[in-house]
Amino acid sequence: MKPMIVALALAFAPVTAAPRAQTAQTLDIYFIDVEGGQATLIVTPAGQTMLVDAGFPSTGSFSSRPGDPAKARDPQRVLAVARAAGVTRINYLLATHFHADHIGGVPELSQLIPIDAFIDHGGVTADADRVAGTIAIHQAYAAGRAGKRHIEPRPGDRIPLTGIEATIVSSGGETLSTPLTGASRGANAACVPSGVAASEMTENPRSTGILLQFGRFRFLDVGDLTDAPLFRLACPSDQIGPVDVYLVSHHGGADAADPSLFAAIKPRVAILNNSATKGGAAAMFTTLRAALGTDTWQLHRSEAKGAENFGDDRIANLSEATAHWLKLSARDDGSFTITNARTGMTTRYPGR
Ligand SMILES: [Zn+2]
Repeated sequence: MKPMIVALALAFAPVTAAPRAQTAQTLDIYFIDVEGGQATLIVTPAGQTMLVDAGFPSTGSFSSRPGDPAKARDPQRVLAVARAAGVTRINYLLATHFHADHIGGVPELSQLIPIDAFIDHGGVTADADRVAGTIAIHQAYAAGRAGKRHIEPRPGDRIPLTGIEATIVSSGGETLSTPLTGASRGANAACVPSGVAASEMTENPRSTGILLQFGRFRFLDVGDLTDAPLFRLACPSDQIGPVDVYLVSHHGGADAADPSLFAAIKPRVAILNNSATKGGAAAMFTTLRAALGTDTWQLHRSEAKGAENFGDDRIANLSEATAHWLKLSARDDGSFTITNARTGMTTRYPGR
């Protein structure tokens, strides 16, 4: 009976994996340096791929517009990591939200590597240009999405990946209506309003967030989720449950530093996709040290005012002259490794 079940499962898999000589044992996640944006490449054990965001367009700023893909800084960085990972197509492009540091690179990247399906929260609101250029950036993105498979998920929906549970936890300002299996019961004692206002109120709180589970291993990425939707994942009670690795929301900005989420999800390891001057706020370092001790990895050494960086061995880029990535490789027993591409050193974490 078993082979039949496997055959049926493959027949109904909406996106088929690229052929591989053999199935890998690990879920691999590459945190790509896009200088304070996001680009996170996920490669499942079955060889399926999901890219969460693609960094900035062209020359790499909020005022840049898509141009020649061959000269596009962040799409070229994504392509280099894809090649290193043996990836030849993106099965799912998950756009967390429509700011230039997250989707700006998508139109150029789609000319460099095929993208099969797009996952996002749909469209922008009329006030999205409070971050200047967001509406134009969204238009360029939507033009590239046209004619492709498009998924607008609701919290609680699953993205079909073989062997991985990929659950949407937030999207379009909504969050989970039912706690995930494994969430703590009862009130979260850490729920005290932090008093730090969100720095942006249109797109960031609408971020599409995802929880990936591979066996006992769990990874949370909520894009730039801030304000009430971020707070709702943890307060008044936990909606997520413990995670092994948390890609810290909003690049490690002060408006994501509220300790209540950390108390709920109890990450073993945190990762900051900050730049030298963006994210990595002093308040975040205080929260991280209290919640995790020293187990935070940074894409950049932070030069934000008052920031106290973790050890150089945990930092992928000590200056903006380089573009090293961090690679997470997880097994279904909950154990994982993190490799710093700058030093070549790998740190091992046992299962819980
Ligand atoms: Zn951002």
